[in-house]
Amino acid sequence: MNCSAPIDPAVLADYWLAALTEAEQESVEQHLFTCDDCGARLRETVAMAEGIRNIAQDGTLLMVVSDAFLKRAAEQGVRIREYCPPNGGSVECTVRAEDDLLVGRLESDLRGAKRIDLRICDPGGVERFRLPDIPFDPSAGSIAFQQSITYSKAAPSETIVARLVSMDDSGGERLLGEYTFHHRRTLPGPGAW
Ligand SMILES: [Zn+2]
Repeated sequence: MNCSAPIDPAVLADYWLAALTEAEQESVEQHLFTCDDCGARLRETVAMAEGIRNIAQDGTLLMVVSDAFLKRAAEQGVRIREYCPPNGGSVECTVRAEDDLLVGRLESDLRGAKRIDLRICDPGGVERFRLPDIPFDPSAGSIAFQQSITYSKAAPSETIVARLVSMDDSGGERLLGEYTFHHRRTLPGPGAW
């Protein structure tokens, strides 16, 4: 490794996800232009992220995404389908062939929360999986997550219930919001109804 100032791995990942500001992106690009070490590390990062993307196809991997990431993705022409069910309510949703990102936005008052978990449940309230300790901006008033687009395009019609819960130090849970997504399949193919 000959690089004297290697780019931070998290910055490389954000660079690939297009989540950097324009100024940050320019400085990374300038560095990559002359640094083979960091170029190789970027390729490793991409390979790892592609691996994660493959895992995401089973639908068990959801990611919380920042508004900055979504804004930048939209600016770069990424087609985003976003649903924002009311807190305590539901929304009819689907995904189309041309969509690149499927995003659910969960509105809630996040002020005062120390740790927030996102629980994904079936309509009977049984938890399918949980994202513990998700990143959030206490003043934002909402949390956005992306569902695996590959999974969604292949998924049958189904209903999922997202729950935001705030965790206190003793492990107690407080419900911040509950949101029901009635996903209806509109693409033909395996699993279609
Ligand atoms: Zn370097």
